Amino acid sequence: MESAGGPATAERSVEVRNWGNFIGGKWVPAASGRTLENRNPADQDDLIGVFADSGAQDVEQAVAAARAAFPAWRALPAPKRGEILYRCAEILVRRKEEFARDATREMGKVLAETRGDVQEAIDMTYYMAGEGRRQFGQTTPSELANKFQMSVRMPVGVAGLITPWNFPMAIPSWKMMPALVLGNTVVIKSAPDTPLSTVNLIEALTEAGLPAGVVNMVSGGGQPGAALAAHPDVGVVSFTGSTGTGRKVSEACASRFKHCHLEMGGKNVIMVMDDANLELAVDGALWGGFGTTGQRCTAASRVVLHKDVYSRFAERFVERARALRVGNGLDERIEMGPLINQAQRDKVEMYAGVGREEGARLLCGGHRLAGGDHARGFFFEATVFGDCAPAMRVAREEIFGPVVSLIPVGSLEEAIEVGNSVDYGLSASIYTQDINKAFTAMRDMYTGIFYVNAPTIGAETHLPFGGTKNTGNGHREACVQALDVFSEWKSIYIDYSGHLQRAQIDTPE
Ligand code: NAD
Repeated sequence: MESAGGPATAERSVEVRNWGNFIGGKWVPAASGRTLENRNPADQDDLIGVFADSGAQDVEQAVAAARAAFPAWRALPAPKRGEILYRCAEILVRRKEEFARDATREMGKVLAETRGDVQEAIDMTYYMAGEGRRQFGQTTPSELANKFQMSVRMPVGVAGLITPWNFPMAIPSWKMMPALVLGNTVVIKSAPDTPLSTVNLIEALTEAGLPAGVVNMVSGGGQPGAALAAHPDVGVVSFTGSTGTGRKVSEACASRFKHCHLEMGGKNVIMVMDDANLELAVDGALWGGFGTTGQRCTAASRVVLHKDVYSRFAERFVERARALRVGNGLDERIEMGPLINQAQRDKVEMYAGVGREEGARLLCGGHRLAGGDHARGFFFEATVFGDCAPAMRVAREEIFGPVVSLIPVGSLEEAIEVGNSVDYGLSASIYTQDINKAFTAMRDMYTGIFYVNAPTIGAETHLPFGGTKNTGNGHREACVQALDVFSEWKSIYIDYSGHLQRAQIDTPE
């Protein structure tokens, strides 16, 4: 495996800033005074910033600020709220490169991908800005004379947002923008490994004219996350992260009947049929499996292959995986960055061992990269296991790293059965030239997202995003469906007959 240059040294000279929490429009330290260091996963000598290590008291203050800001924000006409979002989108466009570099530094994926991450935030912000002038409700004819009826959305109140690190600006924006345009105020608990990208998003919103208290941020780990989910003044919680944490968040919300939106893990599948364009399928599996170092909820961590093309695909795929340049994502020549932290590298290494013990055939990779340019980061080889049985742990558990399992099958029906056999249901794809096979798989895969002749990644902001089974709890991010998470419907009846009319009760004509 090739390696390439170290980090761009320009970043080193930038002064390390001490960030606090953002509460009521001010940066304030954690009540405990505790802090967390944010370091580059490609180079642990690169200290990016120092952030507040928050606790329940900080969440208390942030929720109070959001509550206080709610009446005025809700009263601002929605198109005006949308105008602030438009201005924010313009600022993100202007600062895209800077924010992308910050994101690569704090979470490791290559610059082309963090530019895409910021672009998703831009797209979502523009999209939701437009919702300032839509937020369509319904009017329906009344069953009674001289009566009018309609439904309108109303904000829930304070939205608690809990986010992961792998899309450090996109995911906060996916939650924040629909919440804001509907008139909610926000407390966001940033991911412990990527607080800077949340800070950058908040700075853009503030520069765009967002009033103090409308968005508040607490940084830190699980403790403030749990406090936010359980807080009685938080009316809606939107969470993205692992299925295990999502379960805890769901339980915390359940006893108070809160709106609870969960986007969780995945074990996504690419199915390659015997008639597929194999070079296209290899390209897709490489991008789907090793993009973001496999740390995407939609990562193509399983490739189910028709036995007639298995060997040809495996040979070409392994050759390409071996050639991937692994290193610091700030170097434009690099194709795959590090894992996010030590714990994640240990987990991937553990699964590399599990695969071998289960009898999967290690076709390439399987080891950490620790020497030379890799010495200061959490690097791992692109790893491919062949001859996997669907029941193997490497073929059904979310690894969240650069590990792809190849599973041979004999037919489309078997591919679909294997594809659906895992506990997750986020994304699936098929490579075939046969429209009948494509439509059959499209119908029968029980996933929230499906692709034909494209990998399992590549969602756009104007279609709903989310998954079935252990991936989600029935809600969707993005598109107009995101509005449902952050609003309540109110049905309104206006009787202008001047006398009592009783619906559903027979009234003499
Ligand atoms: P994680 O579950 O460890 O953490 C997610 C967030 O929850 C973090 O901000 C964390 O501090 C917070 N948290 C931890 N304990 C908590 C608690 N008890 N109560 C409330 N909050 C708590 O996940 P991660 O490692 O940050 O992200 C990786 C996971 O996220 C993967 O499973 C991946 O598939 C998933 N993910 C899903 C999607 C999706 O849209 N389905 C998108 C991106 C990532």
